[in-house]
Amino acid sequence: AAAIALRHVSRRYANGVQALADVSLQAAPGAFVSLLGPSGCGKSTVLRLLAGLDAPSSGQVQRPADGVGYVFQDPTLMPWASVEANVRLPLRLRHAPRAAADAAVREALQAVGLADFARALPRELSGGMRMRASIARAMVTRPSLLLLDEPFAALDEITRFRLNQELLGLWQRDAFTALFVTHSVYEAVFLSQRVVVMGARPGRVVREITVDAPYPRD
Ligand code: ADP
Ligand code: ADP
Repeated sequence: AAAIALRHVSRRYANGVQALADVSLQAAPGAFVSLLGPSGCGKSTVLRLLAGLDAPSSGQVQRPADGVGYVFQDPTLMPWASVEANVRLPLRLRHAPRAAADAAVREALQAVGLADFARALPRELSGGMRMRASIARAMVTRPSLLLLDEPFAALDEITRFRLNQELLGLWQRDAFTALFVTHSVYEAVFLSQRVVVMGARPGRVVREITVDAPYPRD
């Protein structure tokens, strides 16, 4: 069975914009799928539907029952709170027990290489480090699905390359399903087993490309 799926999904907004028209796509559990296409083709709408933040006008959305991790291009960290407090936020919202939360936060910071920056404020970090904190926050609840909306688009090439490698490492280790929105063909092919290409007006799937799995899990 698929981990996530859209089946004949359409989404028309109240202003009449047809963001998605009869879109079907799916990802197997643990797959890394990229979503590629021009601005306005409905990529963010697909992610919002899968996060449960929006509902289709017609068609079916299959999404995980447990939590979903969401990473945006803007890390949206609370500027007054330490890195560790930012990463802890999803656990606080769930009232996770203190000891378990401490361990999960430590583990998440370790995973993204920010263990030594737990007490730092976001403004004291580089752009790449802020993105790592944002990824740690998305993963601290161990979601089975990670949604990423052009997460690295604002970063310089070198940082972007390193974050792509790190993201692959996390995916290989933690076995979550990933749906990664990007404008970069390079990034899509580097990261994914499958690339779903969308077109605009109305938003639809125009092509699916299978990439020979270059990074199988152990
Ligand atoms: P719904 O179809 O769910 O009623 P709306 O069309 O009323 O949604 O818009 C929901 C929200 O998105 C509103 O706050 C609106 O201002 C905002 N919005 C409207 N147009 C756009 C747009 N082109 N891109 C992004 N957000 C938009
Ligand atoms: P992408 O992420 O590929 O740029 P989006 O999913 O953000 O595409 O948007 C798809 C289309 O729907 C665009 O034309 C956008 O302006 C419009 N749109 C997005 N959100 C809303 C909204 N809340 N209300 C009205 N129109 C929207």
